[in-house]
Amino acid sequence: MSKNRVIIAENRLHRPDYFSGMQAAAKAELCPFDPGAEELTPQTILRLDDASGNWRVRVIPNLYNALSIEEPKSTERIGFFERQDGLGAHEVVIEHPEHEKRFGTFEHEDFLYYLKALHHRLEDLRKDTRLEYVQIFKNSGAKAGASMTHPHSQIIATPFIPRRLYDELVNQKAYHAEHGRGLLEDMLHEEMRLNERIIYENRSMVLLAPYASFFPFEVWVVPKIPVSSMLELSQAQQDDLAAAMRVLFSRMEGQLGDFPFNMAFYERPARCEHDPEKIMEGVESYFRFHIRVMPRIYQLAGFEVSTGVHINPVPPELAASRLKEA
Ligand code: AMP
Repeated sequence: MSKNRVIIAENRLHRPDYFSGMQAAAKAELCPFDPGAEELTPQTILRLDDASGNWRVRVIPNLYNALSIEEPKSTERIGFFERQDGLGAHEVVIEHPEHEKRFGTFEHEDFLYYLKALHHRLEDLRKDTRLEYVQIFKNSGAKAGASMTHPHSQIIATPFIPRRLYDELVNQKAYHAEHGRGLLEDMLHEEMRLNERIIYENRSMVLLAPYASFFPFEVWVVPKIPVSSMLELSQAQQDDLAAAMRVLFSRMEGQLGDFPFNMAFYERPARCEHDPEKIMEGVESYFRFHIRVMPRIYQLAGFEVSTGVHINPVPPELAASRLKEA
């Protein structure tokens, strides 16, 4: 009814959960994301090494994948219903060799390695003409849905644009047609003018607690320059992004300790086959790449799940002032 799709993936049932009751048993074993345990994961897709030849970031296929690159791209009708084969990519980015590392304790260089790995994977996945959208995301902590404790992110590339994102792009395109400027461009401009929810800025990146944010202490990283994908960032801008992420996570930890969160990279879609609203036309000009960090301090409950309306007990102005001071 909502035009949303659901990925049915039985394979996911078997994945280990290092936060659950199994934790003690699982802890005794070697973590498959630790250096030296590489044979416990599928074959490396990408590895970035330091000067001594030790890996700093590794990208691997998700062993319990929700989608598979080997599936065909086909859709069929089953009477009333519609189904599609499970084509797509599902990868894990092991962000750091050290098991106990967290974004809150990452150095600038750690973020640079991480962003470089994402850049490579994004570039590669966008070339696959069967795939339309690449979602880079991170679950950190059990309350944010993570099953592994070792620092990692995930990448899921889908042969369609998820409905909610498609709808957001429709809105942003309409705004651009009316005003001649991007929605996020104008929002950033207004936030900087008001300076009530700005947390930090450097040459090319801004950290802000967005107006009426969904989640308590939600923070967005928004580029000051018009880029619709992180692939368009220059080396200096990647450096600014790494600096902004370091400030963000060290200050968040200062306020919230080792907090559970989800993080999402919002990128311009690679392509769109079924595009009744023609969102791909001019997407480079109306859409701006950004990152959302969503702390999961409170559980989403019945009202949020039934209506999609969030109740946020922490005003973003308060969150911003705390993170500014931190
Ligand atoms: P999360 O559930 O967000 O913590 O992400 C961890 C991901 O790692 C899960 O989606 C698991 O399917 C995946 N995973 C667990 N064990 C392995 C393994 N040995 N090799 C590759 N992926 C794994």
